[in-house]
Amino acid sequence: MKSDVLIIGAGMAGLAAAEVLSSRGLTVEVLEAQERVGGRVYSLGFFRNSSPVELGAEFVHGKPPEILNRLKEYGLKTQSISDQHFIYNQDGFSEMPRFWEMIDKIMSQLSIRGENDRTFQDTLESLDAPQESLELARSFVEGFHAADLSKISTMSVAQVENSPDKSGAQDAARICEGYSQLAHSIYRRAKRNKAGFQFHRVVKEIVWQPGNVWVSAHDLETNHIQSFHARTALITLPVGVLKSKPGTKGSIRFRPNLEMKSKALQSIEMGSVCKAVLRFREPFWLQKLSIRDGGFFHIPGVDFPTWWVNYDEKSAVLTAWVGGKLAEKQIGRATGDIVDSLLELLSDVFTINRRELHRLLRSWHYRDWQSDPFSRGAYSYLSVGGLEAQEKLAAPVADTLYFAGEATHLGGQTGTVDAALASGARAAQEILAVLKTVSAA
Ligand SMILES: Cc1cc2nc3c(=O)[nH]c(=O)nc-3n(C[C@H](O)[C@H](O)[C@H](O)COP(=O)(O)OP(=O)(O)OC[C@H]3O[C@@H](n4cnc5c(N)ncnc54)[C@H](O)[C@@H]3O)c2cc1C
Repeated sequence: MKSDVLIIGAGMAGLAAAEVLSSRGLTVEVLEAQERVGGRVYSLGFFRNSSPVELGAEFVHGKPPEILNRLKEYGLKTQSISDQHFIYNQDGFSEMPRFWEMIDKIMSQLSIRGENDRTFQDTLESLDAPQESLELARSFVEGFHAADLSKISTMSVAQVENSPDKSGAQDAARICEGYSQLAHSIYRRAKRNKAGFQFHRVVKEIVWQPGNVWVSAHDLETNHIQSFHARTALITLPVGVLKSKPGTKGSIRFRPNLEMKSKALQSIEMGSVCKAVLRFREPFWLQKLSIRDGGFFHIPGVDFPTWWVNYDEKSAVLTAWVGGKLAEKQIGRATGDIVDSLLELLSDVFTINRRELHRLLRSWHYRDWQSDPFSRGAYSYLSVGGLEAQEKLAAPVADTLYFAGEATHLGGQTGTVDAALASGARAAQEILAVLKTVSAA
C-alpha cells in the first residue's frame, strides 16, 4: 500500500509531525528502530513513590509554547527548579550568586553576525575579562551546549545566548510525570488519528524520485528486510545517525545521493554528553551543602564537573553531567567503573565514608548516548561558518523528501525538545502544503 507520508523516527520531531499529519486525514506510517517512542527523551518511571529518572532530556528550558501548550492539553505538570549554583574548591563549597551575570557579561561581548566567525576557544582567548568569568563561560558552553570548544561557532553561541529568550538555561523546569509522558501523550493522540507505528524497524535505504519513496527497513522481530512505499518521506534522524559511516548499524543510504545534505552536515556536529543518575536513600549532602531542590554544584577539574540535586520527601537524587570534549573521554568506559569513581568523588567532597555511601545508594542509571547507534551523540551544535547549515539540512527535496529533528530548527535554538517539536510541526506544514495541492490538481 502506498501511504501519503513515511516518517522515519518516533522521537519528538517525528511524533509532532505524525500528530499534525494524521489529524488532517493523511495516511501516515512511522518507522522506528527501537521498541519505544521518544528517542532522546527517555524517562524511567517504574520506581514506587519516587520521581522518574530522566536518562535523556530532563528540563523544559524557558517558556516554549510547543511544550507548555501540550502539557496543559495533556494535563501534565511542571515544577520549576532552583537557580542556585555552588562551586567546590579546597575550602569547600561556596555559593555563586552572580553565576549567570558573569556568563552573560561574556556572552554580551560576542557578535551575532559579521565576516569573522571563529571557534569559541579562539574567542575566549581574545577576550579581556576576569579569569573566573572566562572559565565559567568555557564550562557553560562545553557543558550546556555539549560542544567541543575548538569547533563550535562563536556566532551560533551568540545567536542563542543573546536572543530575547536565550537558551532558557536560566529558567528551567521539570515535567513531574516524566518527559516520556509527553511523548506517550502525543503518540496516543496520533494513533487515535490512525497513524501507524512500526517499532523495531531499522531503516537502511531510502530510494526516491519525485512523488515516490521506497524505504527498506530491517525488521528486528522477523530478521527480514521489509519495504514501504509512500508519496513523501519525513526524515527525523539525529545528526549523529545521518553522519554515521555507511554500513554501520543505524546508518542510512539515500538513492540518489543527497549531496546538498552531506554538505550541510559538514558544518553540524553532534555534541557529546554523559549523564549519570544516582538515587540515594537520603539527601546526605545536606550536612555539608545547604542546597535547594534543583540546585547545581560545580566541581572543576574532575571527570564529571557539573552536578544537580533532586530531592523531596520521596527521592534523594544526584545527577552527574559532563559535556563536550571531556565527555568523549568516558565513551566505552564500563558503567560500574564510572559509578565507582563518582562515589569516590562524592566521598571526598562530602567527607563521607565510601562504605556508607554504597549503603545509601539505592540505584544508579546511565546511558551512553554516544555509543547508541540510533543517536550517536547527545545533541547538535554548529561549527565555525555553519550558520546556514540548519536551513540547508531542513530544506525539502523535490517536494518528496522532508527533514525535521532538533538540528533542523530554523530559529537556531537547536539541541532541545522544543526545537524537535517545532521542527516536526514545520515539516508537517510543508508536506500538507504540497500534498493538498497534489490532491486538488
Ligand atoms: C543526555 C541528554 C540530555 C538532554 N537534556 C535536554 C534537556 O534537559 N532539555 C531539552 O530540551 N533537551 C535535552 N536534550 C536534547 C533532546 O533530548 C533532543 O534535542 C530531542 O529529544 C531530539 O528529538 P528528535 O526527534 O530530533 O530526535 P530523536 O529523539 O533522536 O529521535 C530520532 C528517532 O529516530 C530513531 N532512529 C534512529 N536511527 C534510525 C533508523 N536507522 N531507522 C529508524 N529509526 C531510527 C531513534 O531511535 C529515535 O527514536 C538532551 C539530550 C540528551 C541525550
